[in-house]
Amino acid sequence: MTYGADYKPIPAISATSGEGVEVLQDLYCYNVRIVNICLVGNPNGNNFILVDAGMPGSANEIIATIEERFGANSRPKAIVLTHGHFDHVGSILELVEHWKVSVYAHPLELPYLTGKKSYPEPDPTVEGGIIAKLSSLFPNEPINLGSHVQALPSNGMIPGMEGFCWVHTPGHTPGHVSYFRDHDGTLIAGDAFVTVKQESLYSVLTQKKEISGPPRYFTPDWKAAWESVKKLQRLRPSVAITGHGLPMMGEELSTSLKMLADNFGRIAVPDYGKYVGQQLKH
Ligand SMILES: [Zn+2]
Ligand SMILES: [Zn+2]
Repeated sequence: MTYGADYKPIPAISATSGEGVEVLQDLYCYNVRIVNICLVGNPNGNNFILVDAGMPGSANEIIATIEERFGANSRPKAIVLTHGHFDHVGSILELVEHWKVSVYAHPLELPYLTGKKSYPEPDPTVEGGIIAKLSSLFPNEPINLGSHVQALPSNGMIPGMEGFCWVHTPGHTPGHVSYFRDHDGTLIAGDAFVTVKQESLYSVLTQKKEISGPPRYFTPDWKAAWESVKKLQRLRPSVAITGHGLPMMGEELSTSLKMLADNFGRIAVPDYGKYVGQQLKH
């Protein structure tokens, strides 16, 4: 297993770095500097799943967080990924080595996780704030998990994550998925939409809560991204953990998500940038 050739630590931090929120009894959201990981499973048992794998250099922090919640030497049944961007797989090699667990991702994401294909370069020219301008520093070359990564089952289920199904939400990346639990409307959205303006240094530092489209500098297909937000809105989630920003729930979530789905061209799609199709703006 190897990280991409351009893998490196990224000095970025937010006000909620190192904080965890128990959103539901079996749903824990933990902020690794500027990105969320999610633990799905009851803390009284030892059957749980880790969703996404944090920033580069955070394996020890993730392991300690998990041991604090689930007990010494506990380990997830698997790591499931929303997508393979560097900030969602930043510590995955060390975690896989430590726990000897399988990783699951959408089949269309596998080339980016097995060293075959690089993501498009981040777009530092995109409309947005300072983080967008610094995004050329962000790694986009693929990691290689070799045989440790497998495709999510085609029937929509996730091994070890009963009650959830995966929902294909492309646009931000081709094989981006979100995870949805029908019976209580729990959504783990990944970067399909987020609750902080991820391009803005001020917003990221303060974690000011505001529904937002996928991080702009890394989103090449805005048409698909819009369809994905509409798809998630139709599920009527009652609580959402997103890849970046604070959890959102209830009325605030339903109102914000409807507003985003209805006005995606105005709110989410940047006014300019190398991946923007002008037909989406209105
Ligand atoms: Zn991403
Ligand atoms: Zn992200």
